[in-house]
Amino acid sequence: MNQFEPELAGLSQQQSWVLQVLAKHRSALLRTLEEALERARAAYVGQCLECLRARGLADCLDGVWRLTWTGTGVANWREQKVWSDLLPPGRNLPEPRAGENGLDVGPACDDYRVTLFAPGRCWCGRTRDQHSTL
Ligand SMILES: [Zn+2]
Repeated sequence: MNQFEPELAGLSQQQSWVLQVLAKHRSALLRTLEEALERARAAYVGQCLECLRARGLADCLDGVWRLTWTGTGVANWREQKVWSDLLPPGRNLPEPRAGENGLDVGPACDDYRVTLFAPGRCWCGRTRDQHSTL
């Protein structure tokens, strides 16, 4: 491991972005760096959206971007994992089934699997009450 790796590993993603922008400028006023970062971020978002579109996760119509059905499912699954710490120890993270993305109403469901990103709802898009009681 070289001498810089420990320092780099200790930086957050944002901190390393600022480091990189300052390196490009060598020296700069705060405002200059802020503007450079805004431009970099803006370019980053555009590139990411194109990648998401290529993967079928997002689409653009008349300049307006939206997630596709699958993209919505991926975003919801990502958020579900972020909130997984809320679960009592030993409980499995409720997962989506085929035909479910956590937002749109999916196929008939009798197994309430709570979405942590939208408490009170199941991955099938229904509330607990809307499930057949066993
Ligand atoms: Zn359900």
